Amino acid sequence: MALTPEDVDRDFKQVFALVHHDRQDGFLRWEDAPDPLMLVWSPRIFEFLQVMENTISFSPARGICREVGYGSGHEGALRSLQAMGVESESPVDALLMLPRILAGSGWGASAVEYDDATSRVTWTFPNGTSVGVAAERAGPRADPACAFFEGFGAGWVKGSLGLAVEFVETACRGRGEPQCLFESRPLG
Ligand SMILES: [Zn+2]
Repeated sequence: MALTPEDVDRDFKQVFALVHHDRQDGFLRWEDAPDPLMLVWSPRIFEFLQVMENTISFSPARGICREVGYGSGHEGALRSLQAMGVESESPVDALLMLPRILAGSGWGASAVEYDDATSRVTWTFPNGTSVGVAAERAGPRADPACAFFEGFGAGWVKGSLGLAVEFVETACRGRGEPQCLFESRPLG
């Protein structure tokens, strides 16, 4: 399922219509989520990975980014499905909300494919993720930049399909490739 520009526009309006501002505490909140919502520039999110790469060896840095993304994706799936009115009895519909919520949130337009014979999920950002584009602007790198998204996608798959997978980013704008591509592998 590929998003049209009209879909992206509609989802942007729908996602941001659920944001409200509290003039007392100065926080944004989304729908009835208790946690404040922050708008953060994508280069700052990429800096998490860069800082960790500079302080610990590469694999643990990706793992930590993935873990933060996982929590966000898992909670995001459960909360978004409720807020956007997707029936929880339809796990695949819930999975397919992932591109709509993310393009609506400004993370980048993507397409998700689910093969129910193999339970594999392929998730493609034809123009890269927002973080991948920030990484490309920071200069060429040898490794993919979007570990946060790897975790986010795995969390979303768990929150929608109930499947335990990990995503591996096999192409990345941050590495000079035209798109960011994530492929799932079963866990356990
Ligand atoms: Zn990427």
